[in-house]
Amino acid sequence: MNVSDLGTILGIWAHPDDELWAAGAMAEAIKNGQRVVCVTATKGDAGKTANQQKWPQEKLSQIRVTEMSEALSAIGIHELHWLGYGDGKLINADSKKVVARIKDIIDAVRPDTIFTFEPEGVSGHDDHKTISAWSLMAAKESAVRPVIYGACETTERYEKFGRSCDDLFDIYFNTDNPFTVDEKHADLLLKLNRAQAKQKMHALRSHASQMSAFFNNPAGKNYWKKFCDVECFIRLA
Ligand SMILES: [Zn+2]
Repeated sequence: MNVSDLGTILGIWAHPDDELWAAGAMAEAIKNGQRVVCVTATKGDAGKTANQQKWPQEKLSQIRVTEMSEALSAIGIHELHWLGYGDGKLINADSKKVVARIKDIIDAVRPDTIFTFEPEGVSGHDDHKTISAWSLMAAKESAVRPVIYGACETTERYEKFGRSCDDLFDIYFNTDNPFTVDEKHADLLLKLNRAQAKQKMHALRSHASQMSAFFNNPAGKNYWKKFCDVECFIRLA
């Protein structure tokens, strides 16, 4: 399976920066001339700020909108739908209504492929798990039947870099045993070349209010560097 076989792609995510889990695949698709659209459910304003003085919590919503637009420009994406739900509160939203909204976007975009999180949401974050479940439900209700891929942590990256980074930064913050997939068992595995990894790192660095804290620490820096080398997905539908 190559990125050029994925056709029109719709990425459905919970927070600004979640799209990074498929940034390399989406950037390659755009270079190929494929259409790529993103949906982001919240503005990520309940997340931690890397520096309260530079990026004050009370201004986080606007800051993350600006960062998201820079990150998407770095990937080459120009179509984004904000759903406008509360960060950390997706589980409390009226799922029928949200699924109907996502279904409408699927009907309008007619994607061949949807990217979202694997059902455990990588970090166990409730918003990640919820957006993954909603994506599946919305696609089922749509007459369009896209292939759905869930973004995963690789076992290799988790063992070598993720676990130590978790000890310092609690990156898989809602689980002690994150779901991981061996690279050889992935349904879609993308190894990024140097130019692609650099492009992805540029998108990642655009989310400065979230990411800059990691780069002051060798383990944090290493993890995200490896994060820009490989993307791994399992097929959900
Ligand atoms: Zn997230």
